[in-house]
Amino acid sequence: MAIAERHGIRAEPLDADALRQIYPDIAPGITRGLLIPGNAYTVSPQRLVRTLGELLVAAGGEIVAERTQKIIPRGGAAGFLLMNNISNRTAQRVVVATGASTRELLDPLGIRVPLHTERGYHAMMPSPNITLKIPMSIKNRGFGLTPMEDGLRAGGTVEIDSLHAAPNEKRAMILVEHVKRVFPTLQTGEPRYWMGHRPSTPDSLPVLGVVPSQPGLFLAFGHGHFGMTGGPPSGRLVAQLINGAAPAIDPAPYSCTRF
Ligand SMILES: Cc1cc2nc3c(=O)[nH]c(=O)nc-3n(C[C@H](O)[C@H](O)[C@H](O)COP(=O)(O)OP(=O)(O)OC[C@H]3O[C@@H](n4cnc5c(N)ncnc54)[C@H](O)[C@@H]3O)c2cc1C
Repeated sequence: MAIAERHGIRAEPLDADALRQIYPDIAPGITRGLLIPGNAYTVSPQRLVRTLGELLVAAGGEIVAERTQKIIPRGGAAGFLLMNNISNRTAQRVVVATGASTRELLDPLGIRVPLHTERGYHAMMPSPNITLKIPMSIKNRGFGLTPMEDGLRAGGTVEIDSLHAAPNEKRAMILVEHVKRVFPTLQTGEPRYWMGHRPSTPDSLPVLGVVPSQPGLFLAFGHGHFGMTGGPPSGRLVAQLINGAAPAIDPAPYSCTRF
């Protein structure tokens, strides 16, 4: 409670009865909770991102399904050559927003940033026999449970391993066991398992803004556990910096030179 208040978040303590009103199927042993009114969530990150893409195209943008293998500075106003897997492209300004893979593009340019992946997993239960009115975060077991368009999703865990190591599906499977401890009568159907990357920095802040040694090269990565939440304000800040507009917040704490 104290932490929530320190961050200006209104939180209401829940006793066993209040908890059961929100989650009628919750295990009898769980007797305390904290309600954060108005906490937002998405029912489909995939549809959210697809819709943003459609809005971009409707506004005149173009989506090119290519992978950049190397960014080559051409010097001054000539900008950059992007050596892609399908074509070469040139641009005066480039934003590198390639998540946990970003070092593969920055290391060859001599731009050193401490970035690692915190791998996480989810188990999507497509046809659960219980429904949740609102998402739930189970702090002592380190996972979240969200009612979504395609079912009930349990997501969480932190695994430190390399970017290209194969997923450890047991980490996703154990999430289902955790959920059953919280909702003992849950029948999950056949879960779908997933592994994703959290692009994480040592100070848990993203890396945003121009690279001082490479004018025209902008960075927007390193959102760690909060990329879905942090992406929009970061995108706005980087757009303001590219367009020379007054930034809404001070970009200095997010500079790649802070490390
Ligand atoms: C289990 C789990 C739960 C999470 N829950 C939440 C949550 O509740 N709320 C929240 O805010 N965040 C959450 N996150 C974190 C969030 O998913 C990340 O912070 C976010 O995805 C990072 O966004 P990004 O765009 O920087 O990177 P990504 O989403 O990884 O996107 C990077 C994109 O760049 C592309 N790319 C990479 N290299 C290249 C290249 N060379 N050329 C071209 N394209 C390239 C990739 O294909 C990808 O499309 C969670 C993460 C995990 C794993």
